[in-house]
Amino acid sequence: MAHERECVRGCVKRGEHFAGCSNYGRAPVDAECRGCVPVEAREGALICDRDYRRLRRLLDDAPDLIGLIRSKADPSKSGWNMDREIVGGSRADLAPAPVDADLVDAGEQLTSRLAEWSRFLRHGVAPLHRAPGLAPGAGADVAHALAREYAVDILDRLDDVVNDRDNVLALCSWTLDQWIHDELDRSEEDRSWTLTRALNRWSLVERAWWAAQPCPNEDGMGGCGLKSVRVFPPRTPAGRTRFVCQSPACDWERDDTDDDAPWALMFSHRMGQPGFVPEEPLEDVA
Ligand SMILES: [Zn+2]
Ligand SMILES: [Zn+2]
Ligand SMILES: [Zn+2]
Repeated sequence: MAHERECVRGCVKRGEHFAGCSNYGRAPVDAECRGCVPVEAREGALICDRDYRRLRRLLDDAPDLIGLIRSKADPSKSGWNMDREIVGGSRADLAPAPVDADLVDAGEQLTSRLAEWSRFLRHGVAPLHRAPGLAPGAGADVAHALAREYAVDILDRLDDVVNDRDNVLALCSWTLDQWIHDELDRSEEDRSWTLTRALNRWSLVERAWWAAQPCPNEDGMGGCGLKSVRVFPPRTPAGRTRFVCQSPACDWERDDTDDDAPWALMFSHRMGQPGFVPEEPLEDVA
């Protein structure tokens, strides 16, 4: 390995400690330090492979998420509604429910962040200059198409962004983090929405399933080998199928565009029963 650069987001290998750490040699369950050995940056990037994949995935998912948020904020505007609920009851139940203010804020903020990044990467206008988000009353289809356009602009230029320290930290913060660090001393209502926080709140419907094949991860401490790989089918016709180990101690993840092995074929068998049930939500809430 020629390069020893560390992930600029400060990621650590879970459960691995330097000899000087008081948790060295302790089982992860009683350790106070969750790990202190830094994760290396991905080849050609300043962030680690896991952050890079999560970043790409969140940007891929952003249009569906924003469409979902708009359809929830105003179900009457869209036949796009992904989780239409028909609840029986009296006539009073048919009155329109008050719109959750969080839906309006999240849809507006996330769209305007995408717009700002798209504009910055295409025209060099700093992302801190506010770009307009969704027009009031924009339907889910409009919101989805707009977000798709912006997300594609960012994804097309992602390899440059992940090589610029300031840019990659800023982009990762509002996508991967639950809270933006600069905003932590504000009250909870005043903090902006990140893609991760919005996905945790209004998760997209996925027909994920457990693969019968064990996790092939051979990095770190003797390989994972658990039957803990979950297969996430694409949400859109052009989307990727993802294969993600759900064991908390393992970071293994691939998608069907990775060609280091025929992953789709290897993980084509479903497990009858999940052998491992993750306790944590799928996205990190760190
Ligand atoms: Zn440690
Ligand atoms: Zn990282
Ligand atoms: Zn694994």
